[in-house]
Amino acid sequence: MSTTPSDSSNARREAMEVAEAARESAMTRPSLTADLFLGRFRPELVVPFPEQDEADRRRGDEIRSKVEAFLRENLDADEVDRTGEVPPRVIEGLRQLGCFGLKIPREYGGLGLSQVNYNRIIASVASHCGSTAVWLSAHQSIGVPQPLKLFGTEEQKKKYLPRLAKGEISAFALTEPNVGSDPARMEMTATPTEDGKAYVLNGEKLWCTNGNVAEILIVMARTPSKMVDGREKKQVTAFIVESKTPGFEIVHRCSFMGLHGIQNGLLRFKNVRVPAENILWGPGLGLKLALITLNTGRLTVPSATAGVAKQCLWIARQWAAERQQWGAPVGKHEAVAMKLAWMASHTFAMEALAEYTARLVERPDADIRLEAAVAKLFNTETGIRIADHTVQIRGGRGYESAPSLRARGEKPWPVERIYRDSRINTIIEGTSEIMHLFIAREALDPHLRRAGDLFNPKLSGGKKAKLLAKAAGFYAGWYPKQFLPLPVSIPSGMPGPLVPHLRFIGAASRRLARTIFGLMMKHGPKLEHRQGLLGRCVDVGVDLTVMAATCAYAMSLGAPKAGEASPVDLADHFCREARRRIAEAFRGIKTNDDRLAGKIAGDALEGHYAWLEKGILLAECEAATPAPSPSPRRERSGPQTLSPVS
Ligand SMILES: Cc1cc2nc3c(=O)[nH]c(=O)nc-3n(C[C@H](O)[C@H](O)[C@H](O)COP(=O)(O)OP(=O)(O)OC[C@H]3O[C@@H](n4cnc5c(N)ncnc54)[C@H](O)[C@@H]3O)c2cc1C
Repeated sequence: MSTTPSDSSNARREAMEVAEAARESAMTRPSLTADLFLGRFRPELVVPFPEQDEADRRRGDEIRSKVEAFLRENLDADEVDRTGEVPPRVIEGLRQLGCFGLKIPREYGGLGLSQVNYNRIIASVASHCGSTAVWLSAHQSIGVPQPLKLFGTEEQKKKYLPRLAKGEISAFALTEPNVGSDPARMEMTATPTEDGKAYVLNGEKLWCTNGNVAEILIVMARTPSKMVDGREKKQVTAFIVESKTPGFEIVHRCSFMGLHGIQNGLLRFKNVRVPAENILWGPGLGLKLALITLNTGRLTVPSATAGVAKQCLWIARQWAAERQQWGAPVGKHEAVAMKLAWMASHTFAMEALAEYTARLVERPDADIRLEAAVAKLFNTETGIRIADHTVQIRGGRGYESAPSLRARGEKPWPVERIYRDSRINTIIEGTSEIMHLFIAREALDPHLRRAGDLFNPKLSGGKKAKLLAKAAGFYAGWYPKQFLPLPVSIPSGMPGPLVPHLRFIGAASRRLARTIFGLMMKHGPKLEHRQGLLGRCVDVGVDLTVMAATCAYAMSLGAPKAGEASPVDLADHFCREARRRIAEAFRGIKTNDDRLAGKIAGDALEGHYAWLEKGILLAECEAATPAPSPSPRRERSGPQTLSPVS
């Protein structure tokens, strides 16, 4: 069926409306990043760096040491990569250690760890085996325990959390074959039964991590639309679904570039009857629930990527010192040395950001949705660059698999596997492009609230005039301030080399705020389509946030011990690099090739560059007739063996 331009613009408008309705309300609690976009740098939001309670740290470290000892002894990550299986005895061992209930409150049988401790444990597991970390994280970061903790009734919590804490595995099912970044257009349906006691689910969910082994899933589905002001309002509702329910089928286990040991699949729901009491939060709140779950859920990926970056740094610096070429260790050649320095300072920044955001979760007075998105975007993008630098520094050995290296008697550093395993991180839990849009939307929100309706063509002239008068009052004070050289109050004890960077953050945030305002004035509602411009603004806000977190983290670590190098150098180097990127982004906002790029992309989309694709064997293919090939369910030890697939 062909789509007309008006079909597609209606679909787009509808998707935007549903996504808007699912947004959380305005920020009322402080946010470092939100303020930076408004031209206000408030160092007190990051200095002193949020502290972790000492007793909490000790408890987390104790559990982490046990998990590390267990994995060192029992888990061969290359074997997982080769066989595509995390051995059942490893999963069982992790269950025994309480690893499937790390964040579940103690009253429900979990270990009740803080977000910081949970993240550190996942980071450590991820540094050893990405697949195993994903088993734990898909279950707890976004799987049933997280939304259940946030939105479940006491009855639902009592029913499910103890089972989940014991190690019944869960999954988060949002994505569908036709519904990826835009879940508002969900196709899976949940139809209420006549007596209203249940809902009947029909549809498919794709790429559901843990889905192939899960006992309990959180599933988002469309419930009947509501009519509001004569217009259909789509409803998405979240359900707790037990995989033993008749009609639930695992159609396929997906295999990927990396993370070979994860259990991820295409799931089919055919007349799956779910009791109405299994609705989580309430009818029509499913999309909002999914987005809020992801806000905290996506804090684990930044920690995991920081853990992997440390592993890369460890490998790269050893190899760069050991490998001699042209009469010197390769790390002494400036091209490699610069990569190493970049890796070290950016690993430090990743850790600073991951720690900052995780510690904020424990503070009731903080709004972390922007910082969480910044951490997801920055750490996943930086993480893959660090993995790439590590491959490069290892040279040919970076491209060779660990088993092959081992077989010929070399150190089996798994750089090739790390690279493959890391690549997914910029795609899952909100792609980098969607994180840019999310951050841009939140950054523009204060302006849209004050003056957004000025761009609304449907608003009458009288209403616009009133709005203009009201908005003008605010902007008459706010706008000129963005041009003033206002001082930044430098926290006492901030190391000297970092002080200029804090001053820079203050000045650059004002430049960012006036730039965003100028773009809104110039482009009006069309700014939404100028993703190149918005993306550069977001990149500036991201780097400013990371600079602030990195300086504060360096300060909090204090003076280095004898023989150790100072974190201040790392923060200083990171900030210098970030400032260069920021300058480049501001230049790109003024002068860019976005229009030409848009034309070229348009021509490419229309196939007008087919001549450029000549002279190769094109990867032409036809989809095979979908033949349901139920993947064999894993045999698992322990009491949670799954019932056969229906
Ligand atoms: C290994 C793996 C594990 C996963 N685990 C889960 C899981 O547990 N649960 C779950 O529900 N899903 C899961 N997913 C799905 C994952 O969240 C999606 O792949 C992701 O949301 C992107 O959707 P998509 O792949 O359909 O890409 P699309 O949405 O089709 O996007 C394709 C490209 O277009 C870009 N794009 C899309 N819209 C826009 C826009 N408006 N502006 C700019 N760029 C845009 C995207 O960023 C991307 O680069 C998993 C996927 C994989 C591969």
